[in-house]
Amino acid sequence: MIIAVDGPTASGKGTIAMALAKHFGLPHLDTGLLYRAVGRQVELIGGDADNGENALAACEFPEGLLSDDILRSESTGSLASRVSVHPAVRQALYERQRAFATQSGGAVLDGRDIGTVIAPEAEVKLFVTASVQARAHRRHAEMLGRGLSVRLEDIEADLARRDARDMNRADAPLKPAPDALLFDTTSFSREQAIEAAIEVVQGMLR
Ligand code: C5P
Repeated sequence: MIIAVDGPTASGKGTIAMALAKHFGLPHLDTGLLYRAVGRQVELIGGDADNGENALAACEFPEGLLSDDILRSESTGSLASRVSVHPAVRQALYERQRAFATQSGGAVLDGRDIGTVIAPEAEVKLFVTASVQARAHRRHAEMLGRGLSVRLEDIEADLARRDARDMNRADAPLKPAPDALLFDTTSFSREQAIEAAIEVVQGMLR
């Protein structure tokens, strides 16, 4: 069984994907991490994230980079969003994601284009959303918890910018697959979102 979990930044899709993977005993891939690694690598090689050739060269990042904490930063998230616009980058990361999705026994993947491009045949497709304000609040609390001082307004502006870039790019824009179930987490706590998602998926499998 393939479970595709798509949605914008800080919608809760990562938390939900991880919980579903645990509940159904499936391996999980956070595909945003791959784009974040490319974004970070372009910086490390002194390239420009908006340049397609530089971004493609950065797809050859060392595996160890995937566990570097800096990938979780907002600045790397912005770089990821910039490199992910280039079709050559998406193509370069396609096989790895496709192989993960189609491994025997199934998998859970979260990202932006899992249900539309990477695994359109997925048995379960969730498109997780939440208002930009709710997402900014969550990200803000998370960053304060990590000891980082950031302004809520700055986070909200950055999220809105990233949403616009992800939704308006020509190649694999962020949009729900026609057969995806929309799952709005705006008024849910983390625990409520997990519980509701498991229930929804169980319902879809019945
Ligand atoms: O999900 P996360 O915030 O880690 O993703 C970082 C960026 O990577 C996103 O803003 C998006 O531009 C890009 N991305 C993508 N396709 C995916 C996963 C992430 O374009 N499947």
